[in-house]
Amino acid sequence: MYGLKNMLTILQLPVLNDNYIYLIHDHVSGETAAVDPAVAQPVLNVLEQKGWQLTTILNTHHHGDHVGGNLDLKQKTGCTIIAPLSDQNRIPGIDRGVIEGDVITLGKHTARVISTPGHTSGHVVYYFADDNTLFCGDTLFVMGCGRLFEGTAEQMWHSLQKLKALPVATIIYCAHEYTQTNGRFALTVEPGNRKLQQRMDVINQQRTNHQPTVPSTIEQEMATNPFFREDSLALQETIKMVNKKPVEVFAEIRRLKNSF
Ligand code: ZN
Ligand code: FE
Repeated sequence: MYGLKNMLTILQLPVLNDNYIYLIHDHVSGETAAVDPAVAQPVLNVLEQKGWQLTTILNTHHHGDHVGGNLDLKQKTGCTIIAPLSDQNRIPGIDRGVIEGDVITLGKHTARVISTPGHTSGHVVYYFADDNTLFCGDTLFVMGCGRLFEGTAEQMWHSLQKLKALPVATIIYCAHEYTQTNGRFALTVEPGNRKLQQRMDVINQQRTNHQPTVPSTIEQEMATNPFFREDSLALQETIKMVNKKPVEVFAEIRRLKNSF
């Protein structure tokens, strides 16, 4: 763990309809990373305003709303682009391809790369263990998970198991503000979940006030995210999947969400 003095500064930039770009700044080394820069200009604006130099881009996957700012930012700042190795032919400007278990650094802070296929085949997330912080792209959302564009339910379920196994206090920064819709769906599969009901009251208030509902924590997701709760008997009963394998329950929740 670090002292307060060594904490990372994390800024959340809402862009496009519902995307979040994260800027991570280490004031000791002066290094700054942008996670999934969908667009360049809002990032450049903040860098200028803060007097920060962009050193690194961290991409979680190849979708345009996560890599759209890559080339412009690289050209204007000379930053290094780190992205999944298996997406090296479809991520613009990639300098370093990473795989499961690789470690990336920001000053003295380190993040472990966790491979989370499902939303896309090459999706990775970045876990700063000593900072209790996870950047999870489109794998895990607040009360939701990414759609299965290039992977099977089985793959996504395995990916989510890895995230579920992280310390419960881990703060999760996802790439979209999908919470309110996710929560409405979650209530249809687990209407009696008190923590979910209470959380939705808070979230509805936050959205009315145009406040972000991200970040969340693994602990909050364990209590309210249906894609983390395939072992809930109440949920299984609601969707008529009692006594099925966890991965089958998960697949059914995902199927229901697709048509919600
Ligand atoms: Zn995506
Ligand atoms: Fe996305």
